[in-house]
Amino acid sequence: MNPIDSFSRDYAEARARFLGALHALGDLAKHEAIAHPLKGPNGEDLATDVGLIGNPDAERVLVLISSTHGTEGTCGSACQFAWLNSDRPTSLPSNIRVVLIHAINPHGFAHVRRVTEDNVDLNRNFLDHDAPHPENPGYALLHDYLIPESWSAEARAEADKALQAFAEEYGQFALQAAISQGQYTHPDGLFFGGHAPTWSNRTLRAILEKHAGTARSVGLIDFHTGLGPHGTADLICNAAADSEDYQRLDRWYENGLSSPTAGTSTSAPLAGTMEHGVRQALPNARLSMITAEFGTYPIQRVFNALRGDHWLHARGTNDAALRKAIKDEVSKALYPDENDWKELVALRGRQLIDRATAGLANDP
Ligand SMILES: [Zn+2]
Repeated sequence: MNPIDSFSRDYAEARARFLGALHALGDLAKHEAIAHPLKGPNGEDLATDVGLIGNPDAERVLVLISSTHGTEGTCGSACQFAWLNSDRPTSLPSNIRVVLIHAINPHGFAHVRRVTEDNVDLNRNFLDHDAPHPENPGYALLHDYLIPESWSAEARAEADKALQAFAEEYGQFALQAAISQGQYTHPDGLFFGGHAPTWSNRTLRAILEKHAGTARSVGLIDFHTGLGPHGTADLICNAAADSEDYQRLDRWYENGLSSPTAGTSTSAPLAGTMEHGVRQALPNARLSMITAEFGTYPIQRVFNALRGDHWLHARGTNDAALRKAIKDEVSKALYPDENDWKELVALRGRQLIDRATAGLANDP
């Protein structure tokens, strides 16, 4: 299969193709669907689908996750689909089981949003919601400018001046961090981490406990898009750079890792990441997890696309052309739909899954 053909237009197509590829593997693959309570934009059912391949008793489990950030799922889904259609499922090392989690945030994927049905950034939602939430005073300062009253060119130009002033005073990366590190004060805002575990959070924990709960060693790749150079993967590792986990992953991926806490990543250090939830769900496993972040366009373009989407969600509009322009831009910002980009992502995605499989199978 041509690697660029592994990409789907939307959630419905991605789901159908994922299920078709699983089905084509016959007895080699098992499937489980966890139905989402809401529907897609065309009334279609939404679900997180789990594909299970390989030795069911294996103590080494590779978990591949798509669509943590909704519409970013086009990338992860393509990597999962390409893998299912390769010779890898039939030539898996006998000590490995693979758990493919397709569309952990199916509502965001189907509705072309990065967040879940409750406007929650799933990758900021995995923390103790009974404890005080982390504070983000920078975001509180910026919120009204990120999502202004009006989305007219004039109103945005005015708001952008305030964002620019923040960047000039504190630096561009400080602006990125304030916007994206996670905030728990503005439920209609950007990168809102929620006030309770959202459906996708609870569903992920249940899947991991059920299908990887007895594993001794778990490798995990969570596929994302939006940060970094076009078509390039930043392999983000949240483990401390001097930790055993980091060093093991660095071996697996041939020195390709980046670390938000060490300042070598495209990502700022984040609150409430999925990794916390994975570690809680799998307390007995050695966890080797990376976030594979594929770059699309410059960060200002990506942030502006997300601002537009959040503005649309918070304020609404009767202007059908504006609505379409905003949705097209958020889709494009997180899924360029260009052949070179797709080819780069598909090839790198296959490499990463191969590296994780080999690392997991061969580690002592
Ligand atoms: Zn993401």
